[in-house]
Amino acid sequence: MKNKLLIVAFITIFICLTLSVALTMAQCPRCDGTGKIICPYCDGAGEITVEEGAPCEHCYGTGTLDPLIITKSRSSWLNEGKISVQVRYENQDPVSTYGTVTATVDVKGTSYTDTSPRTLFPANEIKEVSLTISGISYEDYNTLQEGKVFSTDITLTADKVPCPYCDGTGLAAAAIECPQCDGAGYILCPECGGTGVEGGEQNVGLDIAGTAYGVAVVVVVAGVAIGVFVLVKKRGVTEEALRKMPASEFQNWVLKKMEGKPASQSDVRMGIDGYTVEGEPVAIKQADGVDRNVIESLAAAMGRRNAKNGTIVAFSFGNEAIRGRVRAKMSYGFDIQMVTVRELISSRNRLL
Ligand SMILES: [Zn+2]
Ligand SMILES: [Zn+2]
Ligand SMILES: [Zn+2]
Repeated sequence: MKNKLLIVAFITIFICLTLSVALTMAQCPRCDGTGKIICPYCDGAGEITVEEGAPCEHCYGTGTLDPLIITKSRSSWLNEGKISVQVRYENQDPVSTYGTVTATVDVKGTSYTDTSPRTLFPANEIKEVSLTISGISYEDYNTLQEGKVFSTDITLTADKVPCPYCDGTGLAAAAIECPQCDGAGYILCPECGGTGVEGGEQNVGLDIAGTAYGVAVVVVVAGVAIGVFVLVKKRGVTEEALRKMPASEFQNWVLKKMEGKPASQSDVRMGIDGYTVEGEPVAIKQADGVDRNVIESLAAAMGRRNAKNGTIVAFSFGNEAIRGRVRAKMSYGFDIQMVTVRELISSRNRLL
């Protein structure tokens, strides 16, 4: 029967679907079953940049800076009883500062000096400072003139300024090993706890529960499949059930099985219980050992209805039934088929 094939196909598809669902369910969607995900703290880099994670290398963590002001050139010369000093400075830091410049000349134990006023040394610029050392004694000035060469000590004292590199905090950004993944760049999938199996996140118990769930689904499907088969079997009624059926219900079953139709009341009185789809008479006996007399009464009815072919349905036939059938054929040319209920039950195609 087509129905059974359809049901088997349906069950097969259903089981396949369920199994594939179970397989899909088994794989953790967050990590695609790998159990690892890219570390979200370092984006897989393995290290993270920590603001203020290290001392500022410019101010050594002090937060204040002595701007780097270098001497580009310097000169000093005797000039009408005084010493003129000229120094070119360059502030090489990106921050301006104020400072004073002091020039000192020693002559035989006597120091002569001059200090500039507070002077601005602009960021990343050259600044020229001029000093004039005066008050030198005539004798010492002559000594300097005679010596031709003398040394001048020049010192710059500049103000400390807030460190421009760390905004005065003394701290700088630093790359450190990612503490979340220990530098690996990936972490265990939090969804599945690294198992790669969906629903395995908290503990082994849940993992087993997940597997059990899959098994349970399969078992339920199998149960449904078996149930459907049992139902099909039940619908395909047993011979025993047919024996216990009310007569009318039994006749309906036979006619339905033969795709036939019921007979009229007058036909029934004549011994015709229904007709095949071709309109040939059918006699239906809910009995065993149906014998020649039943064959002959059907043959009589067929004669009255001008039918050449007829069918008798019964649980079994007696020894004389065949003889009656042969006689009907030889005497009247009637073809009478004898069909058992068992044949109807097991029939896959319409009999007649
Ligand atoms: Zn996962
Ligand atoms: Zn990381
Ligand atoms: Zn600094």
